Amino acid sequence: MPQDWLKGVDDYYDVVVIGSGLAGLTGANCLAKCGHKVLLLEHHYQLGGLATWFTRKGGHIFDISLHGFPVGMIKSARKYWSQEIADSIVQLKGIRFVNPQFDLTTTFDRADFTRLLIERFKVPAGTVERFFTDLRAMNFYDHNPETTGGMLERYFPGRDDVKRFLMEPIAYANGSSLDDPAITYGIVFSNFMSSGVYTFRGGTDLLIKKMAGELRRNGVEFRKRVMVEKVLVDATTGSRQVTGVVANGRTIRCGAVLSNANIKGTIFKLAGEENFAPEFVAQARAVRINTSSCQVYLGIRKGESIPHIGDLIFVSDSVGFTTDELVDFHTTSRTFSVYYPETRPGSERYTVVCSLNARYDDWNRLSAEEYQREKDRIIEESIACLERFVPGVRTRIDWAEAATPRTIEHYTRHWMGTSFGTKFEGLKVSMDLPAQLAGLYHAGSVGLIMSGWLGTINYGVITANNIDKYLFGQKRGAAAPTEEPACAKL
Ligand SMILES: Cc1cc2nc3c(=O)[nH]c(=O)nc-3n(C[C@H](O)[C@H](O)[C@H](O)COP(=O)(O)OP(=O)(O)OC[C@H]3O[C@@H](n4cnc5c(N)ncnc54)[C@H](O)[C@@H]3O)c2cc1C
Repeated sequence: MPQDWLKGVDDYYDVVVIGSGLAGLTGANCLAKCGHKVLLLEHHYQLGGLATWFTRKGGHIFDISLHGFPVGMIKSARKYWSQEIADSIVQLKGIRFVNPQFDLTTTFDRADFTRLLIERFKVPAGTVERFFTDLRAMNFYDHNPETTGGMLERYFPGRDDVKRFLMEPIAYANGSSLDDPAITYGIVFSNFMSSGVYTFRGGTDLLIKKMAGELRRNGVEFRKRVMVEKVLVDATTGSRQVTGVVANGRTIRCGAVLSNANIKGTIFKLAGEENFAPEFVAQARAVRINTSSCQVYLGIRKGESIPHIGDLIFVSDSVGFTTDELVDFHTTSRTFSVYYPETRPGSERYTVVCSLNARYDDWNRLSAEEYQREKDRIIEESIACLERFVPGVRTRIDWAEAATPRTIEHYTRHWMGTSFGTKFEGLKVSMDLPAQLAGLYHAGSVGLIMSGWLGTINYGVITANNIDKYLFGQKRGAAAPTEEPACAKL
């Protein structure tokens, strides 16, 4: 008999959450704290989505996406999770850039960037000040059509080196390019500039364990190894409404669904396009999927160490800067995240994760043999590049393995293995979802802005508030209570 991963689950919940990425986890936690009966279903064997980890022979633990996030995570963690989680968030101070145009180390905040732009890049102080002030004032509701490339050219005409300095890390952080709307750059970059780059001390495994503990304490029922196959819809009453889900072959009824799955997957695979107006379907179809990533995981043998070479190192051999080169199949641009023993206090272990941006199609079209060969290539290129910083490191590595956009697709079911959701237009489609199909909500990487650890956690909160209001409205229809929706108090 196959194991019943839904054993003990009830037949009805106020909300079913599909997926345990940071948006799904946070949305579930907020809704449960507001008193709703919540079931969270995750198809993978562990929680976290892309915020996850894996272990390997030799005592290695590798983090997938714990590379760096803005200081805002401290507030969000405290407000929507716990003080204990917030207290483990610490700053990474050694951010390095090494490329043919410049070689420098920075704390990646406004003060240090101002110093470097003026002293190193010889940009007039007034221009630098104006750039940061204008960027900070950028507003999502301004509907400014300018692209990031256009905006950077306006402040720093002809300065490819300055554009690289300002843009390269953001392209790694949310997959955005010079052709995307300036707002998608402005918001994410300003978040980092407010106080630098932060990480979670203890590793993703500890963070997710603490989050699971909070979910349990707040009464969220959660199950792993459960694939949601379908969102059920009642179309008999004129206006369509979500009534439940089918998961691992079983029907579970609910008042609302929060999908943390990819937005396109939510519309076209889980709900079905027949449940949406044709204009909305056209809009959803036109949403461009964002790029993806490759990673090379390098484990340093127990008992061996490496010197402090920086926390995040943006390396490239490309003479000039283009965001196309960053996603090229043969890119020389990569980011090393170096995990010293302080990442997991007491572990005395070192690991290095090398991240490259990538296009799904380049990896998806390979035969099994080519796929293995190309994975070996990126492993070898990454080790050779790391040797420039730690000569002889090759002999200290006893585990090396590569992940590609296909790996991401396999573990998260993301449309075309995207690691950064969708381009900007995806945000509107995500936000308009419940107006199309009552009770269906989305939260997760979308629109470049609502991406990354901070963006998805905050989007989970926003969506939880919307669901709370919806459920409150449903109940009011039934029993006319007079109090405020509970999440209004969050
Ligand atoms: C290589 C890499 C490096 C990154 N580095 C950083 C970084 O340094 N800083 C940063 O802030 N961000 C980083 N990110 C981005 C960040 O990890 C993501 O934006 C964020 O974790 C995504 O969260 P999410 O809520 O969108 O859900 P996801 O993590 O995408 O999770 C969605 C979940 O839904 C589940 N699911 C999907 N469909 C179903 C279904 N039908 N039934 C059940 N479950 C389902 C999936 O299995 C998955 O667990 C990185 C991403 C990658 C790939």
